[in-house]
Amino acid sequence: MSKKWKPETRAIRDTFKKDANAGAVSAPITLSTNFEREADGSYKHGFVYSRIDNPNRQLLEQSLATLESGAAAVAFSSGMAATSAAFQLLELGDHVILPVDAYYSTQELMTGLFEKWGVKMTTVDMSDPANVRNAVTESTKLIWVETPSNPGLKVSDIGVISSIAHDIGAICVIDNTWATPVIQNPLKFGADIVMHSSTKYLGGHGDVSGGALILKDNSFEEKLKKIQQLSGAVPSPFDCWLITRGIKTLFARYKVQQNSAHELANFLSNHPQIDKVHYPGLMSHPQYEIAQKQMVGGFGAMLSVEVKGDAKKAMMLADSLKLFTTATSLGGVESLIEHRKSVEGENSPTPDNLLRVSVGLENVKDLIDDWEEALNKI
Ligand SMILES: *Cc1c(COP(=O)(O)O)cnc(C)c1O
Repeated sequence: MSKKWKPETRAIRDTFKKDANAGAVSAPITLSTNFEREADGSYKHGFVYSRIDNPNRQLLEQSLATLESGAAAVAFSSGMAATSAAFQLLELGDHVILPVDAYYSTQELMTGLFEKWGVKMTTVDMSDPANVRNAVTESTKLIWVETPSNPGLKVSDIGVISSIAHDIGAICVIDNTWATPVIQNPLKFGADIVMHSSTKYLGGHGDVSGGALILKDNSFEEKLKKIQQLSGAVPSPFDCWLITRGIKTLFARYKVQQNSAHELANFLSNHPQIDKVHYPGLMSHPQYEIAQKQMVGGFGAMLSVEVKGDAKKAMMLADSLKLFTTATSLGGVESLIEHRKSVEGENSPTPDNLLRVSVGLENVKDLIDDWEEALNKI
C-alpha cells in the first residue's frame, strides 16, 4: 500500500483485494472453515483452518492496523472479547488501573472474572493524571484508559498516562471506540495497544458485533494471536466482511455525525431546561485543552446531557424525542438516546438525570427541531 495516501483513501484501498477468480471489486466472503493442502503438506495461500486465520479476517486486520498506524491488529467477535484478550496478558497478582467511569462491562469483567484469578484493580478519575500516578503499585502492569469516557465524556491525557505506564514498566491500553481513528490515534501519543468495539462506528450500522486490538509494535502480537486463536472468540468471515465494508464509509459517516453532534451540543448548552452538556468540543468542557491536543480531527459524535429535574423527567424527555430511538449502543446511522443509570444499575455513579446521545446521520436541523419540540413538551 502506498504510504502517501491519506487515511480516507487507505480506508477504501486497504479493504480492497484483487480477486484472481472473478475480478470481484467487493471482496468475496470465504465461508470455508478449512483450506486445501499441497502434496508436500504446505498451504499455498497460508490458510489452514478458519479459527486460526481466514481471508476476510486477514483483510480486516490489515485495514485495522493501518487505520490506527499500528504494526498489527487482532480481530475478535466483540469489543468485550478484545478487552478480555488484553487482560489475559496479565499474570497472577498483577495490578490494573481502570477509569472509574470505564465502559460498565469492562469493570464488571475485571471484578466478575479476573479478580478471582488474583488480578487486582484500582479505579480512578483519569481526567487528572495525578490520580493515576497515585494509584500505581509495585505490581501495576496495565493502565486502561477510555477517552472520551462513557457516559460522562471526560477526557484523559493519553500522552501523560502512557508515560506514567512506561516509567513503571507497564503498558497503556486505550479504548478508542468513541473517538475512532478518524479523530484520535492513541498509538501516536504513546499508547501501546488500542482497543475497539467495532460493533459501534467501524461496523457503523448496528448490524454486526466485533472487536479489535491494534498494536504499536510486534511485542505482544504473538501472545495476542495465541489468545485469539485458542480462546476462539473470533469474528465470522461475514462479520469481518461487514466491518471492512463499514470501514470504507467510516470517515464520511463520522465527520457528518460529529458536526451534527457539535451543533446539537451548542444548542443544548444554551437551553434553559438542560442543566449540563458533556461534550469535549465545548469550550466549557473541563478538559477542552487536552481534547484539542489529542482529538485532532474533531470532538466526536457522542454527547450526554443532564436534564433539569429527576430520572423521571429525563426518561420522559427521551420518550418525547421522535428521531432518537431509545436503545442502547451507539455509532450507527440512526440517532439513539439512553438513560444510562437505569441500564447500569443502582450502584452506578452515573447521575439520575443523565441521557446519553449517539448522533446519527439524519439532517441536523431535524435533530435540533426534535429536541426543541420535546423540551417544550416536558
Ligand atoms: C460497546 C463498547 C464496548 C464493548 O464492546 P462490545 O462490542 O459490546 O463487546 C467497550 N467499550 C466501549 C467504549 C463501548 O462503547
